[in-house]
Amino acid sequence: MKLHIADTFRITTGYGKRIFKVLEVTADAFEFTCADTETGELYFFSQKGLELYESLNQLVIIERAEQSAKLDNARKALESAHVKAVEVGFDYESDGVRFYSAVTKDNSVPHLYTVRVWEDSDGATVAKCNCQGNAKGFACRHIGRVAIEDAKRCKRKVYYASFGNYRAHKSNKSERLAA
Ligand SMILES: [Zn+2]
Repeated sequence: MKLHIADTFRITTGYGKRIFKVLEVTADAFEFTCADTETGELYFFSQKGLELYESLNQLVIIERAEQSAKLDNARKALESAHVKAVEVGFDYESDGVRFYSAVTKDNSVPHLYTVRVWEDSDGATVAKCNCQGNAKGFACRHIGRVAIEDAKRCKRKVYYASFGNYRAHKSNKSERLAA
């Protein structure tokens, strides 16, 4: 088991459950400084101690810092003016695939894209856009904006993870500087 800074884990013992966040790890990964997420109290765990909890099935990693960073990134992107500027509309549904149109404006010239959303055999939501960025494998803002709309239509939470690699567009930065 490897724990990194900002990972969250839960320890369950006969005394109850506690959730900790890793604050510091010594260079030799021998000692972990952790905070109880409820009380803020600091705890020091040794690698051996953590392994013991794990071998007793008393330790569960809840969230990896890498994942939470991706979620943070996605959340910020979805809330950005750049994504909000996309105008979306639901067009129709066919064979379990929902079709949305997404319009962005480049110097007031509108560009129309089609975003398709469906659930794969594992139940995960998949979205594809016909813009150039998405064709190259980048998460695009059209999908981001459609994800919000689709979640609203289907009355469920936006699934951020697939949008986690989104890199905010340059215009976002200039807006932030101007603010
Ligand atoms: Zn796109």
